[in-house]
Amino acid sequence: MKNRFPTIWHFIVIILYLILFTYPISKLQNLLPKSLSAWGMLLAYAIPMYLTIWATRRTFNKKGKLNYTPRYLFLLPLVIVVAYAFLIIGEFTIYLLPKPSGFWKNIFDALNKTMAEIFNNRIAGFIMVAIAAPIFEEILFRGIILRALLKKYNPYLAILLSAIGFGIFHMNPWQFLYATVLGLYLGYMYWKTRSLFYPIVIHTLLNATAFFMAQFVDLPGTEGITEHLTGEDLQKFLGLVAFALGIIISAWYYFEKYFAQIPKEIVLATQNPHKIDEIKQILPANYQLKSLKDIEFNEKLKETGNTLESNALQKVRQISIPYDVDAIADDTGLEVEALHGAPGVYSARYAGDHATDEENVYKLLKDMEGVENRAAQFRTVVAYSKGNQEHIVSGIVKGHITDEPRGTGGFGYDSVFVPEGYTQTFAELGEAEKNKISHRAIALQKLKEKLK
Ligand code: IMP
Repeated sequence: MKNRFPTIWHFIVIILYLILFTYPISKLQNLLPKSLSAWGMLLAYAIPMYLTIWATRRTFNKKGKLNYTPRYLFLLPLVIVVAYAFLIIGEFTIYLLPKPSGFWKNIFDALNKTMAEIFNNRIAGFIMVAIAAPIFEEILFRGIILRALLKKYNPYLAILLSAIGFGIFHMNPWQFLYATVLGLYLGYMYWKTRSLFYPIVIHTLLNATAFFMAQFVDLPGTEGITEHLTGEDLQKFLGLVAFALGIIISAWYYFEKYFAQIPKEIVLATQNPHKIDEIKQILPANYQLKSLKDIEFNEKLKETGNTLESNALQKVRQISIPYDVDAIADDTGLEVEALHGAPGVYSARYAGDHATDEENVYKLLKDMEGVENRAAQFRTVVAYSKGNQEHIVSGIVKGHITDEPRGTGGFGYDSVFVPEGYTQTFAELGEAEKNKISHRAIALQKLKEKLK
């Protein structure tokens, strides 16, 4: 898992993509008349970003679906207050850096000039700063890069790495620190909500604020508005920084508490309604179990592995990766001793590719006709994907195969399987009794322990 997208090399490739697309477009932009240059700049920014996102998604993240759902809307006022607190901390980081000189001064002046030109054209400027930049950058840095990092590393490391990437993307030390600090907040909100809604809102708000401020005051530029501060003004500013830090820490404490009590969503990656019922009865109530229908997954889950383990993993990944959710999948097989473990991983297709439960049971009884050793076991393997971890647990229940089907409960091979210590089949025992002792219950019990 560790060498999955994004590695440092992927990141370098993304930056190269951007440069590759930017260079010819910025050259073309020079040909535009002055009155159109802000629009040219908008294109010189938006086209490479669009192509880079498109190419990155196609290459590394083909299956990922981007989510923009507004969630936890009542947090909006707090989210906004914290965004401005981050703005102050961002200014403070700029203040801490020495003023640009030499090589950096040239870059810095060129950047300032470009920004001034964009800001001077109100419409193109607003579209670029307050619409295009937040959307493109949040899709790239949170929706693609952070999301993939969250599957590889623990959340705080993933957020830090994506924030540093976001900082580097801003191409100079002053903006690097500012963007990295802001990236921590944008990343945190993405991680907690798994939606691009808040990151885009925060990013839009802060960029729009910078844009409107630039309409009234001279661009502070990358040195920050703080460069002239001395004496009392400096003290006031430092007081403001401390206040902003206080807001951020209190809000963090509140967010942690708030998100901790929200039932964690887990998607059950199974199309078998019996399994959904069984899993719902066994897993603790503080999990909000969702079905494939709830997330609008309407295809058939593929299971082409030749072990229960590989099938369970294959099924869970078909959901956890594209939908960016925690998910559970199980794969079950009936292993009959006299048939050398058959039907095993092929239990669902024992009597043919689209066989019904009745056809499978019929074939099994036929194969077992006259066979004395009727020992068998059900084995369930449950795979679950939780954050950056994947785990596998299994459960076995031993028993024997009957001579004929008995009972009307359950599903699959339940009517011909008698668990050890019982005389009735699973189908005769009924759901409640089966769920106490079944292979799936044992596996899920182990899962429950791990989820704690
Ligand atoms: P799968 O895990 O959905 O691939 O199921 C494999 C086969 O085992 C299918 O034919 C199911 O009907 C059957 N099966 C799965 N779980 C059970 C169970 O708890 N009781 C009886 N049959 C089962």
